[in-house]
Amino acid sequence: MALKITDECINCDVCEPECPNQAISMGESIYQIDPNKCTECVGHFDEPQCVQVCPVSCIPVDPAHVEAKESLWAKYRRLKGEG
Ligand code: SF4
Ligand code: SF4
Repeated sequence: MALKITDECINCDVCEPECPNQAISMGESIYQIDPNKCTECVGHFDEPQCVQVCPVSCIPVDPAHVEAKESLWAKYRRLKGEG
């Protein structure tokens, strides 16, 4: 599953540099997560780093992008250029 940023985002800029996959970017009015790049931090960290740092807890899992761990690992390898 990729994560998503809700409209409770206060644009504090804290999560964007923490993402190991450069999946977070500024959208039209709030930050957004590219589901093609978000691995839930699989391959990099035990916990989603953006969730850890977000001061307003506005980064839930995205039910529109449900993925099994294997899929997240495959995405991680693809992003690394290994697969
Ligand atoms: Fe980036 Fe990890 Fe957050 Fe996904 S869970 S957006 S990979 S920091
Ligand atoms: Fe928005 Fe949370 Fe990221 Fe701050 S850490 S920019 S509030 S999603």
